[in-house]
Amino acid sequence: MTDITRRDVMAGAGGLALAALVSESARAADPDRKLGYAIVGLGTYGLGVIIPQFVNCQHSRLAAVVSGDADKAKRVAAQYGLPDSAIYNYSNFDTIRDNPDVDIVYVCLPNSMHADFTIRAAKAGKHVMCEKPMAVSVAECEAMIAACKKADRKLMIGYRCHFEAYNLEAIRLTRSGAIGTPRYFRSEHGFVQGDPSKWRLKRALSGGGSLMDIGIYALNASRYMTGEEPVAVYTHEYTDRSDPRFHEVEDRIEFELEFPSGIIGSCMSMYSANQNHILMMGDKGRVEMEPATAYRGNRMWTGRNGRQDEVTPPPGPGSTQWAGQLDHLVDCIRQNKEPITGGEEGLRDMRLIEAIYRSAREKRRIVL
Ligand code: NAD
Repeated sequence: MTDITRRDVMAGAGGLALAALVSESARAADPDRKLGYAIVGLGTYGLGVIIPQFVNCQHSRLAAVVSGDADKAKRVAAQYGLPDSAIYNYSNFDTIRDNPDVDIVYVCLPNSMHADFTIRAAKAGKHVMCEKPMAVSVAECEAMIAACKKADRKLMIGYRCHFEAYNLEAIRLTRSGAIGTPRYFRSEHGFVQGDPSKWRLKRALSGGGSLMDIGIYALNASRYMTGEEPVAVYTHEYTDRSDPRFHEVEDRIEFELEFPSGIIGSCMSMYSANQNHILMMGDKGRVEMEPATAYRGNRMWTGRNGRQDEVTPPPGPGSTQWAGQLDHLVDCIRQNKEPITGGEEGLRDMRLIEAIYRSAREKRRIVL
């Protein structure tokens, strides 16, 4: 194509959008350029955990912040050397489409806001990293996947344990036959919720209680440790509704998962006790982690023939689990690959969460 005909095409219908997409792809493909993340929600996780992780990344950098608190956003931008033009609020967020420094939007908001901001980000032409749980319903997850597909943008869910060295080694050991044939998976995940006014205890913002927040680690681990999808679930819920923390959402919820190979998964999720544990038993041994999915300080043991050995895993894909996660999405954008924890992964968990809640409500085993 000659220069003149290319110019003609660009000037035609949709030409400007095409030109923007072409230059965006060229920018993303440049191996010397770190891709820019906009962090939406400057709370405990977005500000306290994710933003400080960019120093550990090889291919990702902080490019913008999105917050409802203008003073906080200004403070954070100054601290991380961002210009005023890199500060957005929830109302003007859609203008992020005009910021070529932002390649990816990372949604770190209360669960019920995940779908809206993911869809708006995709419409603004940005790839999306969205925190777990992906959303508060299967319908929302499907709409998020459709929006990203329509905009030809990648969607990844922030399941950091898929990039965490201990969990990766536990998966490898299980698959390698080190514990024989896997038979029984167990995981308890919980922490004590204090303040009843927190959004996590308001159904409209959280979509549910401990299962949506911390129990999802046990659920997701049951799938990555077995490498299988459950075929049935049976749930018991134990919530003291007179406790002001639990007027709207569940506290303890215990669910048994049946897997196609015959493995039984037994999971407990809690907002009234602290625990963080994964155990996989096989017919020749076991692998156990406690804490299993913590930010740091995880520990692992293998047991076989009466012996118990502590295991130190090889390093994970990034210098930290978050660096591995953040850089993985960049790699997927550059290589046009699906993230290993893409939207479908979040959707699978959400389908199970809906079935777990249904089983608790109807007090019966649900076949999936
Ligand atoms: P948080 O309460 O500390 O922060 C939430 C942020 O959203 C705050 O900046 C708050 O101002 C903002 N916000 C906007 N609208 C709000 C509203 N209507 N009500 C309350 N806050 C509102 O929460 P967090 O712990 O940072 O959690 C954010 C998301 O990150 C959640 O989806 C959570 O599940 C997820 N998370 C993931 C991990 C992980 O390890 N992957 C850890 C913690 C949290």
